[in-house]
Amino acid sequence: MQRNIRLRLLSNIVILYMLLAFAWWSFLLFSKNRDAFLAKSELNKIGMIANGLVQNDEEYRQTDFFKELESKYKRQEWMILGEAAVFVISLVIGVWMINQGYNKEIDAVRQRRNFLLSITHELKSPLASIKLILETFRKRNLGTHQIHQLSSNALEETNRLHDLVNDLLLAAKMEATYTLNQENINLTNLLEELNIRLGSKYPEVKFEFRKPESPLIIQGDLAGITSVVVNLLENSVKYGAENPKVSTVLRQGKESIWIEFADNGIGIPDKEKNKIFDRFYRVGSEDTRKTKGTGLGLYIVKQVVLAHKGTIEVSDNRPRGTIFTIALPKGTIS
Ligand code: ADP
Repeated sequence: MQRNIRLRLLSNIVILYMLLAFAWWSFLLFSKNRDAFLAKSELNKIGMIANGLVQNDEEYRQTDFFKELESKYKRQEWMILGEAAVFVISLVIGVWMINQGYNKEIDAVRQRRNFLLSITHELKSPLASIKLILETFRKRNLGTHQIHQLSSNALEETNRLHDLVNDLLLAAKMEATYTLNQENINLTNLLEELNIRLGSKYPEVKFEFRKPESPLIIQGDLAGITSVVVNLLENSVKYGAENPKVSTVLRQGKESIWIEFADNGIGIPDKEKNKIFDRFYRVGSEDTRKTKGTGLGLYIVKQVVLAHKGTIEVSDNRPRGTIFTIALPKGTIS
């Protein structure tokens, strides 16, 4: 990091030096051009006066020779100005583009590093606990209740691994081609079912679902839409604060069907809002973060929504928290 700052400072100094040097050379060229014009003009004036062609400076300034010399001098002045402008504009655009590329590269390196750290942790911890459970089974004679308890834990860890591998596969698939299964999905039922499922998984969180009077059906990919809803609900829990509450609203618009997921969690700073949908992007740094994750969830969510020709937006909830709003086109297969 320190090295990057030093490099940046050095390149800024070099750029500043180039601009100052260029300004100096332009000024010099300008004044030399004027000196040359004045000297040539003066020499000719003296010659013309000596030959009796003109009497004084005023008459000399009316001659064709002077007029041509003056217009040539003006042209040269404009040429210098034009070249200077082109150079400065090209330099500024070039520096801006290099800066953009540099920032992107730094972000990508940071994301890759974060991803590697988090994926290692995400793979290692369930594996370690499954290993421990199996070793306990082998070493000790356990009662039925203990066996039941430990196998449930192992199963939960296996599910976690399964979800992680699924997310990785889905993200890899999105990079290539994601072909949608087209089927009718009853969104009302799906959202109700998933809210109930997550409600029993996280009893400390209050899940609310406001559904429309009549069931809303869209055409789409059931696995993809399920993954969208689960990811958003799980995130609301993961990034929740005290008295966690997650509310889902499903409603029908003119051309689209809207789903809104609102939580009262830690919220997302404005400058992070457009980055959270990037692959592997997680707010903050892996060294200080406490929550688990890979930064793939919202990437998958956005890609699935886009594949359904929908949109997703993120905004602040009041007094605190986050709202994700999804719009999906209406339409069913008859
Ligand atoms: P992960 O949860 O694995 O880090 P995601 O792609 O699901 O990855 O989310 C990216 C980032 O967006 C998270 O690291 C988190 O900082 C932020 N985020 C997502 N959902 C929420 C939310 N409901 N409230 C606050 N922050 C969120």
